[in-house]
Amino acid sequence: MKIVRTLGCITACLIGSSSVSGTPLKLTQVTDNVYSAIGAPAPPSYENAGHNNNLSVVIGEMGVLVVNGGDNFLLAKGLHEAIRQITDKKVVWVVNENGQGHAFLGNSYWRDQGVKLIAHKNAVEEMRLHGDSILKRMQNRNLEKAKGTYVAVPNHEFEDTMSIQLGNTLVELRYFGPAHSPGDISVWLPQTKVLIAGDIAFHQRLLAIFPDTNVENWISSFDKLAGLEPACIVPGHGVPTDLESIRLTTQAYLQFLTDAILEILDNDEGLTEAYAIDQSDYAHLNTFDELATKNAGRLFQTLEMEAF
Ligand SMILES: [Zn+2]
Repeated sequence: MKIVRTLGCITACLIGSSSVSGTPLKLTQVTDNVYSAIGAPAPPSYENAGHNNNLSVVIGEMGVLVVNGGDNFLLAKGLHEAIRQITDKKVVWVVNENGQGHAFLGNSYWRDQGVKLIAHKNAVEEMRLHGDSILKRMQNRNLEKAKGTYVAVPNHEFEDTMSIQLGNTLVELRYFGPAHSPGDISVWLPQTKVLIAGDIAFHQRLLAIFPDTNVENWISSFDKLAGLEPACIVPGHGVPTDLESIRLTTQAYLQFLTDAILEILDNDEGLTEAYAIDQSDYAHLNTFDELATKNAGRLFQTLEMEAF
């Protein structure tokens, strides 16, 4: 395995996404006790079985905490197989980074294992309201790879912060405010300064602005995240890296797009100009072709409403 040493990360090497449901996923070691199954920096598909986000693992003396249920039952099972290859400690907690399908649908596997599930209260609400339709969309995409998946809403929720002690290893769940989607949270390991950031942090692929994305707040929530001064970040998407790399592809992009659209509004121009914003500085990122124009359109519509 190629080891790339960045600030606080032992490894930051890209291993191709494992996409075979039910078989062990490949875990990349991040620090002594943190691993991540790095998702494909691509849209979800039948081929990648919805493994397009990072599924992370914290191994404590008193058990294992998993970040994200993953897109479906079989993917979660594949993650569990991989965990069993590196430790015989039991998985005791599964944390959902938000209420998106690839964060929680695999909860179904973990619930069957008797594992405690937790998410931010807004994410739990999202799962309650939209879980069935999110499940249906995943089933249409994953076909037989969706087998076994059902909506398992977490039986634990929190609002601002929550501490979980895995023996000597302290894990803090942190909410920084609205960002990419309702109930986005990060998992902070203060002893090693590792942040499993979730979807507040994107790397290697262009982030997506959804109708329920709050861009203005995302920019300020990111400042709170940065205030922790993490030595290593496992983003929601992309390989582990440092804060400044994440800032460029997340906060700086959001600010750039906001500024460009505010200028368009100042000039009394419209959606056509928003679609035409030159975003080529970000064209090297995966999912750029799918998302860049859409992002501009969505943010334009939000900011236009606010200008009224
Ligand atoms: Zn995501």
